Amino acid sequence: MIKAIVGANWGDEGKGKITDMLAQEADIIVRFQGGANAGHTIVNDYGKFALHTLPSGVFYDHTTSVIGNGVALNIPVFFKEYQDIVDRGVPAPKILISDRAQIVMPYHILFDKYEEERLAGKSFGSTKSGIAPFYSDKYAKIGFQVSELFDEESLKEKVVRVCETKNVLLEHLYHKPLLNPDELMDELHEYRKMVEPYVADVSLYLWNAIKEGKEILLEGQLGSLKDPDHGIYPMVTSSSTLAAYGAIGAGLPPYEIKKIITVCKAYSSAVGAGAFVSEIFGEEADELRRRGGDGGEYGATTGRPRRMGWFDCVASKYGCRIQGTTDVAFTVLDVLGYLDEIPVCVGYDIDGKVITDFPTTVELEKAKPVLEVLPGWKSDIRGIKNYEDLPENCRRYIEFVEEHIGFPITMISNGPGRKDIIYRNK
Ligand code: GDP
Repeated sequence: MIKAIVGANWGDEGKGKITDMLAQEADIIVRFQGGANAGHTIVNDYGKFALHTLPSGVFYDHTTSVIGNGVALNIPVFFKEYQDIVDRGVPAPKILISDRAQIVMPYHILFDKYEEERLAGKSFGSTKSGIAPFYSDKYAKIGFQVSELFDEESLKEKVVRVCETKNVLLEHLYHKPLLNPDELMDELHEYRKMVEPYVADVSLYLWNAIKEGKEILLEGQLGSLKDPDHGIYPMVTSSSTLAAYGAIGAGLPPYEIKKIITVCKAYSSAVGAGAFVSEIFGEEADELRRRGGDGGEYGATTGRPRRMGWFDCVASKYGCRIQGTTDVAFTVLDVLGYLDEIPVCVGYDIDGKVITDFPTTVELEKAKPVLEVLPGWKSDIRGIKNYEDLPENCRRYIEFVEEHIGFPITMISNGPGRKDIIYRNK
């Protein structure tokens, strides 16, 4: 069976923890989109890890970790991460990299940086991992698939051709040093050596795995609201963050994705620019940020403080719907135990009209949150295993959210570890 684990919000919902947890029962974990621009933080028996490109199943002996064709593959970052986990005592993971995955080129990272500098105050808040230039080139059909590394002649011809166009921009738009095709070829030869042992026809491998009845997890990065089509465009990422894209980014039949587990955090956080209706500021935000996640809400890739907000039913209802949710995993609930009262955003007021269906970005920019305040539970819920043992106000909070988003919350995460989970039959 194939299950997708995806985010309902702006990312950082705790998908890594849920994937790591469900990977116990899985054979294959697949990344199908995104790149090294966001991270998952995972706490397990080996320690605490921030992964950017490795799938969150790499900590188990019995799993195979797969990089699908939809990923923006930064080869040196990938292998550094691989080496880091092995150095920290994790058994060398089994890895497959799609021969159709495209490569983040060194110049993609430069262009990302130069463009952010050029836009200055109007920038998108990019992590400068080269993701937007990478996907632009992919769709402009001047990207490089992993398979192309293995045909020297055509590779050289294409590198020369691509450098020509890139150099026009470098010289006249950015006023930066030009690319040298020979140096780039040397780098690509290094990349080739690194990936060679792992390259595979991933979609065929997965097709056969489905036939053999294997358990496959698709691990999404970021969340619904960062999807380029359905998110808060243009403050989005450059590849689809939706479970549906799992079929494309891994080369699978869409009808095989039977379960879509949408991870939804018990409060909101976001990185980068863009409308964030339930955002809070000042001391109130600082306290939630300090207490949030596991050791504070700071970016796993950049270390930047995340923007904080109350739970947003409007955004989350939409985020779950657009994913095609079958199950909601409601995470980081333990963090809210310090609050006397917990505001929840239940509607958006746009020019005096209250809506509960998430609007397009132009409308969203005008939205003011309509808040409802719920009583807190004022206790530590970590370690609780049964739903009935949660404090009454905590269950009220969960059930309130469930009713407003309209999708069943079947898992509740009450701590960062693998075992901090409450299953709920719905
Ligand atoms: P992802 O990108 O969706 O995987 O999310 P991140 O890893 O960026 O953020 C989730 C953070 O919350 C990480 O630091 C996790 O260790 C932590 N975390 C996940 N689930 C829980 C939970 O239920 N409670 C607490 N306190 N922390 C959690």
